[in-house]
Amino acid sequence: MHDHKANDLDAFWMPFTANRQFKANPRMLVAAKDMHYTTSEGRQILDGTAGLWCCNAGHCRPKIVEAVQKQVAQMDYAPAFQMGHPIAFELANRLVDIAPEGMDHVFYTNSGSESVETALKIALAYHRARGEGQRTRLIGRERGYHGVNFGGISVGGIVTNRKNFGTLLAGVDHLPHTHLPENRFSKGQPEHGAHLADELERIVTLHGGDTIAAVIVEPMAGSTGVLLPPKGYLQRLRDITAKHGILLIFDEVITGFGRLGAPFAAQHYGVTPDLMTTAKGLTNGTIPMGAVLASGAVHDAFMNGPEHMIELFHGYTYSGNPIACAAGIATLDTYAEEGLFENAASLAPYWQEALHSLRDARHVIDIRNEGLIGAIELDPIAGEPTKRAFTAFLKAYEAGILIRTTGDIIAMSPPLMITKDQIDTLVGTLRDVLGKLD
Ligand code: PMP
Repeated sequence: MHDHKANDLDAFWMPFTANRQFKANPRMLVAAKDMHYTTSEGRQILDGTAGLWCCNAGHCRPKIVEAVQKQVAQMDYAPAFQMGHPIAFELANRLVDIAPEGMDHVFYTNSGSESVETALKIALAYHRARGEGQRTRLIGRERGYHGVNFGGISVGGIVTNRKNFGTLLAGVDHLPHTHLPENRFSKGQPEHGAHLADELERIVTLHGGDTIAAVIVEPMAGSTGVLLPPKGYLQRLRDITAKHGILLIFDEVITGFGRLGAPFAAQHYGVTPDLMTTAKGLTNGTIPMGAVLASGAVHDAFMNGPEHMIELFHGYTYSGNPIACAAGIATLDTYAEEGLFENAASLAPYWQEALHSLRDARHVIDIRNEGLIGAIELDPIAGEPTKRAFTAFLKAYEAGILIRTTGDIIAMSPPLMITKDQIDTLVGTLRDVLGKLD
C-alpha cells in the first residue's frame, strides 16, 4: 500500500492542462452557486465561462440537484440495450420539442466527443442502409473542434490535437476556416466569407459527390476562439450538401441550449442540418451526457432499410443513464421556467456593446460576439504565442473572474442567468487586467 497524502497532486494526470505548471501553482474550486465558484481559499469567482461552456443555467440549481438526488435513490442505473425506462423516452420527447422542425429522433451518448463519433457513424451507416455504401468520405473544417476521439480529431482542424496521434481516419478533407481579417470587430455575424462554403464544390469535383458521406461543422466554432459563420455561409453549405446527397452535421455541443438565444444555432441561423450533436448544456454540466439528434429522413433510412440495419450496432453502457436523464429533464425545466434562452436573447445587445467597449483596451486586435458568447483576441507576444492571453487568464482569476483562453484569444460564455451588473463586472475586470498586461 502506498502512503497517499490526500492533497498530493501527482496522481491525477489532468486533461488539457500543462500539469507541471498547474501543480506548481494550483487553482482549486471547492463549491459553486448560481453565477459563482468558491475557491479553496474562500474567494468568490464570477463564472464567465459557464464552467466549460456547459452550466448554462448557472450552478447547483435546486431543481436539478433535487432531481439527481431523487433519481439516484430510486433507480441508479438501468441498461438501455433491449430494455427501457420511462424518463429516457420523456427526455427524448422533450428534446424533440425544442429541436428544429424535423429533428425527430435522439440517440444518447455521454459527452460531446461521443456525440461526434456517433453522428459520423450514423452518417456512414445511413448511406449503406440506402445502398450507397461507397459514400465513405468525411469533410470537416480547419479550426474545427469536434472532441478528442479518433473520428473527432480526424475531422477536426486543430493541429496540436492531431499531430501526436498517428495517421487518424483515412478519407477526410477539410474546408477552409471562416476567420478572415477583413471581418475584424464585426458585431454578430460578419459580412465577408460566404463564398468559402463553395470550397465544398471543389472537394466534390475532386472526389465525386457520391463518395462523400457527410460534412461536419460547428455552426459557430467555439473552442478555437468564437469564429462566427459569415452571413449566408451556412445556407450555402446546406444547399451544396443537399444538391449532392451529402449529410450536413452541425456540432452544437457549445451552441446548443440557448447559448445564442434560440434553443439551437440551427434555429438562430435558420439552417437545419440532418444530424446535430449536443452535450454540455443538455444536463447543465451536472451529469455527463450527450445526444445526437437525427432527422426523420435519416432515422427512417434505418427503420425502412435492410433487416440487418434496423439495429444500429452502436451504443454505450451509459446511453440514457437514468440519473443523466433526470438531470436533463430538470435542466430543460429550469431553462423554460426561468426563461433563460429568452434572457440570453434579450441580453445579447447589451453583451455585444459591453464587449466591444474593450475595443481600445490594451493589446486588443479583434472582438467577436453572438448571443451570450464572445471573444477578445490579443496581439501575441512575438515568439511567445499564447503567453499574453494565458497571463490574462491567471490575472483575471486572481481578480475574481473566470475566463477561458485558446491561443491568444480570450473566450467568454457566461451562464444565461447573468445580469447586466455582472456583465459590467466581467468586462470592467477584464479591462483592468488587460491594462496591466505587458
Ligand atoms: N464538439 C464541440 C463543438 C465542442 O465544443 C466540444 C467540447 N468543447 C466537444 C465536441 C467535445 O465535448 P466533450 O468534451 O464533452 O467530449
